[in-house]
Amino acid sequence: VAEQQIGDRIGDALAAVVGAGQVFAGADAGPDYQHDESLTTTGRAPGWVVRPADAEQVAAVLALATEHGIPVTARGSGTGLCGACVPRADGILVSFERLDRVLEVDVANQVAVVQPGVSLSELDTALAAHGLHYPVAPGEHSASVGGTVGTNAGGMRAVRYGVTRHNVLGLQLALPTGELLRTGGKLMKVSTGYDLTQLVIGSEGTLALVTEVVLKLRPRPAHARTLLAPFPDLDQVIRAVPEIIATGRDPHILEYVDWLTMAAITHTSQLNLGIPDELRESAQAYLVVAVENNIESRLDDDVEALGTKLLELGALDAFVLDGAAARALIEAREHAFWTGKAAGAQDVIDTVVPRTAMPEFLARVRELAEAGGSYVVGCGHAGDGNVHLAVIQPDEQVRHTLLRDIFAAGLALGGAISGEHGIGTEKKPYFLELTDPATVALLRRIKAAFDPAGILNPDVLFDAN
Ligand SMILES: Cc1cc2nc3c(=O)[nH]c(=O)nc-3n(C[C@H](O)[C@H](O)[C@H](O)COP(=O)(O)OP(=O)(O)OC[C@H]3O[C@@H](n4cnc5c(N)ncnc54)[C@H](O)[C@@H]3O)c2cc1C
Repeated sequence: VAEQQIGDRIGDALAAVVGAGQVFAGADAGPDYQHDESLTTTGRAPGWVVRPADAEQVAAVLALATEHGIPVTARGSGTGLCGACVPRADGILVSFERLDRVLEVDVANQVAVVQPGVSLSELDTALAAHGLHYPVAPGEHSASVGGTVGTNAGGMRAVRYGVTRHNVLGLQLALPTGELLRTGGKLMKVSTGYDLTQLVIGSEGTLALVTEVVLKLRPRPAHARTLLAPFPDLDQVIRAVPEIIATGRDPHILEYVDWLTMAAITHTSQLNLGIPDELRESAQAYLVVAVENNIESRLDDDVEALGTKLLELGALDAFVLDGAAARALIEAREHAFWTGKAAGAQDVIDTVVPRTAMPEFLARVRELAEAGGSYVVGCGHAGDGNVHLAVIQPDEQVRHTLLRDIFAAGLALGGAISGEHGIGTEKKPYFLELTDPATVALLRRIKAAFDPAGILNPDVLFDAN
């Protein structure tokens, strides 16, 4: 009874901040708020879901949570892949769906100021009207800007334009203490103390909640061309990647897809790329190379040079896809996660290594998978050395050991556990086991400086105190 009374009192206090219609207790808000897209998390209803309307309300919710020691989890669109927006049963889930406005498109400065609940597809529509473009494009366009800041999302275009942290100029933050502050701004450079913008990007809702984002924009590219090159073996594809980068043709997409993943995604999307059967049968992997430019004639030259280079590097052929086929292939590649899930993958990982270490890393992965009787297939942002692997191994213990050994192999080659999906709750055991303890201790001290009561996503990155 006493617990119920305290719960009711917290619910009333939250309603006083965000309005009675914007607080839901327990499971009343529905299943959507209970999970992300990670294959290994089980959904969980939070104590409360709140839907604030502005930054001041977010800050007031945090002050209240700190006062009562209640855990808080931020949720954008829930498309994350590592459990980082899954709420605690005793916690508050802050949904950003009502902070969904593009506040300003500053055409002259090529900057947009947006609220965190704007989705990438909504943003793109708003920017297209001005001939501008925000280049960060994770495979799921319903992802929110706030969520992409949370995970430092990447995606296929990062090879040319960088990831979220290269394209965010400033933030407004609500701190667990209830303070609101701004970092950066419409500035192309800052050398004025610690860079809090960069510290918060990729912090997975553990340091502060983002209530506004200043984004760096670029002119919208008018023309694009996509080349698809089948190769007789995966190793050759991966070894071709640094050579393609070295041409200086600056592709905005440089992806590898192994034959099985290509067969699966083209089958799922009913996509016929016009590759002759005999080539398809001998191809072990594919490289997708795309270039874009506002000056069309430059693209013709790029395509010519890249096509010649791909053949020199051992491609069986190099097809220039027409616009519709290219879009369909990119979309199918973006949906590779769903194809892997439908095929029964128990986990998906996105280890990153220096791009020249990819052949050795993938060879090691193959050995580890074979030794444990597991199946590991994939594709990846090859230009970034970011390998996306679907892991099929139903035995949880065997899978855990395999993942740990794969991550350790990546780290030994100078890599990191995740290139863009994050750590969340699901990769945390590996992160804590494989990261230097001095680094973990420093990260914890940084967290304590932002969040002294430890309310923000206490199970993400670290184990709760
Ligand atoms: C089919 C598919 C393809 C994908 N492809 C890619 C890809 O190519 N590259 C890539 O990087 N990712 C990819 N993802 C993962 C996912 O889209 C990204 O992680 C994305 O950044 C998550 O955005 P979201 O709005 O759904 O965030 P959520 O999942 O809701 O949250 C992600 C994290 O951000 C935090 N957060 C959310 N909003 C805020 C806020 N306002 N303030 C502070 N913290 C906040 C959450 O607490 C959580 O820690 C893919 C996912 C799917 C399902």
